[in-house]
Amino acid sequence: MLNIVLFGAPGSGKGTQSERLINEYGLYHISTGEVLRDHIRRNTELGRIADAYISRGQLIPDDLMIRILDDVLDKEAAGKKGVVFDGFPRTIPQAEALKELLNKRGTDLHAVIGLEVPEDELVERMIQRGKATGRADDNPETIKNRLEVYHHQTSPLRDYYTNEKKYLGINGQGDVERIFDDIAEKLEKATGAKRGC
Ligand code: AMP
Repeated sequence: MLNIVLFGAPGSGKGTQSERLINEYGLYHISTGEVLRDHIRRNTELGRIADAYISRGQLIPDDLMIRILDDVLDKEAAGKKGVVFDGFPRTIPQAEALKELLNKRGTDLHAVIGLEVPEDELVERMIQRGKATGRADDNPETIKNRLEVYHHQTSPLRDYYTNEKKYLGINGQGDVERIFDDIAEKLEKATGAKRGC
């Protein structure tokens, strides 16, 4: 299997680059944000709990988020060639849980691709995305909270995965194709992955 985390601040392009990665390498995409938004759309009990956090720009508690991911891995990712994790982990306990969840399935995390984008561009991208898609948490107040949460709770993962020798930093500014080519080059060098396989 080839398991990859796509890491970066909100608005850094994780969704866009995930699409390319799953198509080029035949991987399965798990976006925890999408999983939660789907529950909100279907008005499930989990959706109602998640909505209270998402609308304030806060993270869903670790234990709940980890249980959700465990379930998605069982129901959707079994038998796949590998997974692109988009939006997970967002905390150190989540990173530790991901390792355990993968190890108990006889596999591991192979690389963490970090999309690096300056803060003013992140805000601008999310404002534009909010206008284009109507995504509820892409409004100025919630964006501010999400970026604060990112700096306090999520950005330490960069050092965590650098220590694990898994972090591949990518300049996430500019042309989408150029960014993907950089990702592919670093990923293939680090893991031996090949496109179309
Ligand atoms: P995203 O689509 O990845 O930007 O996620 C949207 C929102 O869903 C986040 O602002 C969080 O409220 C919630 N969320 C998504 N993934 C996680 C996670 N791994 N841990 C906690 N909350 C999450």
